[in-house]
Amino acid sequence: MKNLIKNIFGTKHDRDVKKLQPLVTEINEHFDKLQSLSDEELIAKTDEFRKRLADSETPDDIMPEAFAVVKEVCRRHLGQTWDVCDMPTEWNMVPFDVQLIGAVALHQGKIAEMATGEGKTLVATMPTYLNALTGKGVHIVTVNDYLARRDREWMGKIYEFLGLTTGVIHNQMTNVDRREMYQCDITFGTANEFGFDYLRDNMAQRAEDRVHRNYYYAIIDEVDSILVDEARTPLIISGQVESSVHDRYRQMKPTVDILERKQRTLVNDMIAKAENMLAGEKSEDEFEAGLLLLTATHGAPKNKKLLKILKETGMKKLVNDVESVFMRDKKLNDVDEQLYYFIDEREHAIVLTDMGTALLSPAEQNMFEIPDISTMLSELEGDESLSAEERQKKSDEIYRIHGERSEKVHAINQLLRAYTLYEKDVEYVLENGKVMIVDEFTGRILPGRRYSDGLHQAIEAKEGVRIEAESQTLATITLQNYFRMYEKLAGMTGTAETEASEFFDIYKLDVMVIPTNQPMVRVDTEDQIYRTRPEKYKAIINEITERHNAGQPVLVGTVSVDVSETLSRMLKRAGVPHNVLNAKQHQREAEIITRAGESGSVTIATNMAGRGTDIRLGEGVVERGGLHIVGTERHEARRIDRQLRGRAGRQGDPGSSAFFLSLEDDLMRLFGGERLATVMDRLGVQDDEVITHKMVTRAIERAQKKVEAQNFAIRKHTLDYDDVMNVQRKWIYERRLAALERESIKDEVVELIEQVLEALVDNHCPEKEYPENWNLSGLTDDLRQVFLLNLRFREEDITGLTRETLRDKILEAVMHIFRQKELTYGEEVMRQLERYAVLSTIDRHWRDHLAEMDELRTGIGLRAYHGGMGKPIDIYKREAFKMLEQMSATCDREIVNLVYKLQIKVPEKSRVERRREMDAVASHADSTGMGYASAVQAPAGAETAKNPMAEASQAGKQTRTYKRKVAKVGRNEPCPCGSGKKYKKCHGAGE
Ligand code: ADP
Ligand code: MG
Repeated sequence: MKNLIKNIFGTKHDRDVKKLQPLVTEINEHFDKLQSLSDEELIAKTDEFRKRLADSETPDDIMPEAFAVVKEVCRRHLGQTWDVCDMPTEWNMVPFDVQLIGAVALHQGKIAEMATGEGKTLVATMPTYLNALTGKGVHIVTVNDYLARRDREWMGKIYEFLGLTTGVIHNQMTNVDRREMYQCDITFGTANEFGFDYLRDNMAQRAEDRVHRNYYYAIIDEVDSILVDEARTPLIISGQVESSVHDRYRQMKPTVDILERKQRTLVNDMIAKAENMLAGEKSEDEFEAGLLLLTATHGAPKNKKLLKILKETGMKKLVNDVESVFMRDKKLNDVDEQLYYFIDEREHAIVLTDMGTALLSPAEQNMFEIPDISTMLSELEGDESLSAEERQKKSDEIYRIHGERSEKVHAINQLLRAYTLYEKDVEYVLENGKVMIVDEFTGRILPGRRYSDGLHQAIEAKEGVRIEAESQTLATITLQNYFRMYEKLAGMTGTAETEASEFFDIYKLDVMVIPTNQPMVRVDTEDQIYRTRPEKYKAIINEITERHNAGQPVLVGTVSVDVSETLSRMLKRAGVPHNVLNAKQHQREAEIITRAGESGSVTIATNMAGRGTDIRLGEGVVERGGLHIVGTERHEARRIDRQLRGRAGRQGDPGSSAFFLSLEDDLMRLFGGERLATVMDRLGVQDDEVITHKMVTRAIERAQKKVEAQNFAIRKHTLDYDDVMNVQRKWIYERRLAALERESIKDEVVELIEQVLEALVDNHCPEKEYPENWNLSGLTDDLRQVFLLNLRFREEDITGLTRETLRDKILEAVMHIFRQKELTYGEEVMRQLERYAVLSTIDRHWRDHLAEMDELRTGIGLRAYHGGMGKPIDIYKREAFKMLEQMSATCDREIVNLVYKLQIKVPEKSRVERRREMDAVASHADSTGMGYASAVQAPAGAETAKNPMAEASQAGKQTRTYKRKVAKVGRNEPCPCGSGKKYKKCHGAGE
């Protein structure tokens, strides 16, 4: 231990680790004493701990003893063998001191950064046992089903010896089984399974269909992969809906066809002209040629000819120089104005220019004139000549036009993206008249997966195939907000440090870097940089062949399946036997990768393939230098590179790593290329020559940091918006849950009846009006519609009425109908009916609300570019709350209406609903390769540079508002608007 502390002085984690030293000593003292106990006495510790926890002690109090008990159980199992994923496996582990430190960190709700192969699976057993003693359930979250099963079977013996139950969730499991698994003390599963179960629970039609029981403590393995990479996209459960968008895309297609063709011709001309100029002698032409190339880059960054020219010596630099001149003079706009539209590859956005707009037919040009909605509305407000009703009509009209136009602009934008950023047979393929997405990392077709936000329809329009119905989100949550529900969260991984600030920002998770058990002796050599990809590949194959011939195992990491396959072909030609892994068949790949350390073996794998599987060195490999890692491209985050390197040098093994890069790699091209091109020119590097240079390595790191920051911004953006939704989601789900689980919700329904009636009376018989001015016919209409009540007023009745007596009389009549119905159907059926009314209404409106929120977010993303209306997220918060208020009021009225209207035979869910459930698709985009993800779909609204315009298009579709404020927010509960204030201090003030 002393040695260990000495080895790591100088790191900021030194102090943290040092602080835990006394605890380690204490655990080991307890451990020494436990050895004399019989098995029965040791097992009895579990009950003793449970009692002590029930009395007055806390998990912290018993931690050292509990950890010691686990350690002793491990010791007693040494040499025993049991099956783990059908493989007989011998138990050979007793926690090292560093593992005890990791265990303490996990118990304290931190992220333990421990290198690959340090035995994190074992580390988790100690805090898991301790916290499971509370009976509240511990969740162990893994990156795939295979690892969930492996860890349960591997570590399960230890827990079960101590009398704890364990369960594992996997993809194909029934609800009944899931529920049983969640009842266990410890449940293993993937983040997706846990998260989708949460969403499905909140769509359940019967209380007994719910499977989760608690969100108490979760330990997330490979935490960076789950909370960072996977957290880029939310979990979504969706079903198909009818929609009229098809026509929109079909209508706009010819327009976009023309735009695209014109732009292509334009760019080709520019390139040809530039080539001519460069071939000539005149030096003043050079700048002009550079400008043309720069413009072409903005207009068609993937143009083959262009890419070829840019590869030539000095070309990149020329373009960059021109760009900086224009940038300095703030005239980059002038460049883009030479085009019909320009593409911002870094932002994955496309912007139509004035020239582009002018090309559209006159009618459509008009479509692009964006009514500045805020000015128009405020002008309207100031117009005294209009009556309130006229004003309402006009403002409805403004919203309607605005909504319609933003939808069209959105369609054009998506079509342009489909044409320019999405290439057939790269991003997608056509199969039987269907557009199928290709997983950019694995190269496999993703059946049933669709791009969101109209993009898929746009591609279908582009390809001229049938445009399929858009699917509607039924439930959604980000992983961030799912995991924030846990009382306590902890994580472990080999690579967390570079993302430490994000972990703290988003999850309040501290990262603690824990030293290795044995000193690390892996040798990481400097990056080898080539000009072109082919040169790089050649060098890689040479390196692999050499090492392979010398009997050293090599693990080759790639960013995509594509690269894996290219290398595989080249190796085959070179006669080197090898395995290729793609991160899809987890178990089979685990079996292959366990053997990646054997003498002379060559394994090619995308980043996630075989993650979590231990690579042991085969016989004679230590003498040959251990496992050698070859990186074939920099990944988009430094973390992923570290992860790959970490595959070698486990538990003090020898090992080495080297990265091979080229200036044509995506990351370099987009973020560091210019700089590097200059450096290489200056160093006078020739073709086929390799350079290794500190400066280059540093430039690459800078580029990675840029991408990391950009990806963090995208995640943060998604989260900011989900946070607003989260408050609403919780509120709706709570209300729903009450309806689902409460024995009777009669009281709530009766309260709703009163409230809805009150609102009707308020509406038609305002307090400030004389009774003779009341709109009694409107009132009777509504009463008939909502309560099926036929009320007739006689002239002479009216004069004697006050609002209160009127209301009381109607209430009496309405309640009479209610009681009659209850009598006819009986208490039990009536209660079921009420429950059904609440659930079906909330579900339907929540679904629509999700869609409207989506639209709102897109609209605001567009509007933000336009500026002038405050921060987009604030607008979103404001409008989202308004929408919730409206939805809630409409819901109340419909629930009441259903209670009155429903005839018997309803209590069970309807056939339609059953079918809908079966159709529901759970989806979550994978993140497997982690190269520079050029086709990653930024969340709607994250695209900062789209065409201006568009606003809350749903505003035009507003349903009538009823007076009552949002139902049943406790005065001391947080306000559903997401302000973080209590309801009574926020929107509930003055109630
Ligand atoms: P990680 O998840 O940290 O990458 P694993 O949990 O997969 O590591 O463990 C890797 C290997 O390390 C195990 O298969 C085991 O052989 C070895 N190991 C871990 N802890 C110990 C220990 N305390 N004693 C002996 N071997 C251990
Ligand atoms: Mg692991």
